[in-house]
Amino acid sequence: MKSLLEKVVIKANESENQELRVQIERRDTTQEEESPYIGIDIKDPIVEIENLTLKYSDDPALIDISLKIPKNHVTALIGPSGCGKSTLLRCLNRLNDLIDGVTITGTVKISGVDIYDPELDVTELRKRIGMVFQKSNPFPKSIYENAAYGPRIAGIKKRSILDEIVEKSLKSAALWDEVKDRLNESAFSLSGGQQQRLCIARAIAVEPEVLLMDEPCSALDPIATSKIEELMHTLKKNYTITIVTHNMQQASRVSDYTAFLYLGKLVEYDKTEKIFLNPTRKQTEDYITGRFG
Ligand code: ADP
Repeated sequence: MKSLLEKVVIKANESENQELRVQIERRDTTQEEESPYIGIDIKDPIVEIENLTLKYSDDPALIDISLKIPKNHVTALIGPSGCGKSTLLRCLNRLNDLIDGVTITGTVKISGVDIYDPELDVTELRKRIGMVFQKSNPFPKSIYENAAYGPRIAGIKKRSILDEIVEKSLKSAALWDEVKDRLNESAFSLSGGQQQRLCIARAIAVEPEVLLMDEPCSALDPIATSKIEELMHTLKKNYTITIVTHNMQQASRVSDYTAFLYLGKLVEYDKTEKIFLNPTRKQTEDYITGRFG
């Protein structure tokens, strides 16, 4: 038998004659839609993913994911290999569109704009959403030209403006002091860690709204890794960072929020300390304590 629950909502309004008027609505809560979001409720998110399902041909890689990502924080996507972390990250700049046989349902909004709207200019989107990959991929150009690449594509020609952007981006990527006297040398003359910071500088030179990082430290030594981790702490003042990492210590060190995925589903999403110190779901606990994965 259907139980009919009544929920009383009281709204207090000041009426024109300044008397307090109380309005009572009775709602049948069995009619209300359940929120698709699990875990922590993010107020004022920059990214809103709702009921996102992605299939590679017939194989689902993401199943009904709903997740809100807060602005100016670091959000980590964790989970065992193959659980869909990179696929989810790539949905945020529509990089999966380039793969044959992919079908995507659901919605992804960034700053309130539906990024899967067929009218949307994907090139423009990718300027708003920067990405740094696992393996650093500087262009075969000078250090300067790597950092100036995005602004040049955006049509900036004036040398003094480019100089300013290059310096600012390299400073933001904590690389300026190491390269300021060799800006015209090839990017390949840098160490692996420096190359990765150059890629971060290149990504932020166009001031993206969101910076996606797909295991950005997995090819780096511990010192280079700690530099990038420190960098994330400073970058989040100006950028929203979403990072995929298989390294749980890294997720706990760098992120404010953590989403745990398993077999394409979002199992738990919360503040990082909650996920690591007191997770709600047993699956999360088993994963972070190394019982599987
Ligand atoms: P993770 O980043 O968590 O390791 P991925 O997002 O890379 O996981 O992969 C999720 C699932 O999607 C895996 O089963 C993987 O084999 C599959 N997958 C990823 N990329 C492709 C692709 N380009 N074509 C087909 N299947 C893919």
